[in-house]
Amino acid sequence: MSTHGNHNGHSNHTPPILLAIAGFDPSCGAGVAADLKTFAAHNCYGIAAITALTVQSTQGVRAVHATPTATLRAQLDALAEDANIAAAKIGMLANRANAATVAEFLDKNKFAHVILDPVSRPTAGDAELLDSAGLKFVRDELLKRATVVTPNIPEAEFLTGLQVRDVPSMKAAGQKLLEMGARAVVVTGGHLEKPTDVLCDPAGVETFGGDHVRSQHTHGSGCTFSSAIAAQLATGQNLRDAVILAKAYVTQAIEKAYQTGKGAGPLNQLFRFHQEPPARGVHEVPQHGMHPAAEPAAH
Ligand code: PLP
Repeated sequence: MSTHGNHNGHSNHTPPILLAIAGFDPSCGAGVAADLKTFAAHNCYGIAAITALTVQSTQGVRAVHATPTATLRAQLDALAEDANIAAAKIGMLANRANAATVAEFLDKNKFAHVILDPVSRPTAGDAELLDSAGLKFVRDELLKRATVVTPNIPEAEFLTGLQVRDVPSMKAAGQKLLEMGARAVVVTGGHLEKPTDVLCDPAGVETFGGDHVRSQHTHGSGCTFSSAIAAQLATGQNLRDAVILAKAYVTQAIEKAYQTGKGAGPLNQLFRFHQEPPARGVHEVPQHGMHPAAEPAAH
């Protein structure tokens, strides 16, 4: 963390800077938009390298346009040369070439926390968010470069080849991912009747249960969860506490979600900023920081 004087002579603290490496969802429910809102909600500053431009709405993903590899590499290098990155969160990668670029980038820049959400398919729409060669690359190469991996059940099945149906099989998949080189794994069971996450790391295995929130608005839950873990780790929590806090945050963001389109709405990552609108007829005049020139002219 560093401080810089500004032109007022005040000293503004720079919060942890977190890097999202992910795709752009124009409906802003998932991908980098979810990551940046989540970082902001945790008092972190987010920067982002875009791996793909998707065409999607709340009704699903219609198309994916992968960022040219050289452009992704240039984005990553420009950001890493410029900022002091406290943690990197990796989401959608689109294809093997972009996944390999990210692996090279991680080899060149050693970050304290690398959170890998091995995104493969969207909940709605039949576009792939990562091609099959990319998925194999994630399994064989990227997994071991991450400090935490956060697969959901279908992703855990693909990565391990195991059938994952319940908490015991989530534990088995998590253990297998450790054997395959992951340093820590959180298998997320958001779609189970009783949503349960399983944390596996060299210290052991632990399950975290939660109550099911009845909501259609869960678009971007995986992105939000892994970004919340990144923010908690970057602000000094240990992994166990980061997982507990991230799960509580995602649950609340689903509870406070609202509809934005015709399909599955985004989580409300910014629920902590919610304020009731002022009562009718009450006009709030800023008392602070007003400059004479900014005052309305008298007529
Ligand atoms: N679009 C982008 C860019 C994503 O990164 C993701 C998930 O990671 C999705 C869409 C799919 O999100 P969901 O399955 O939560 O709807």
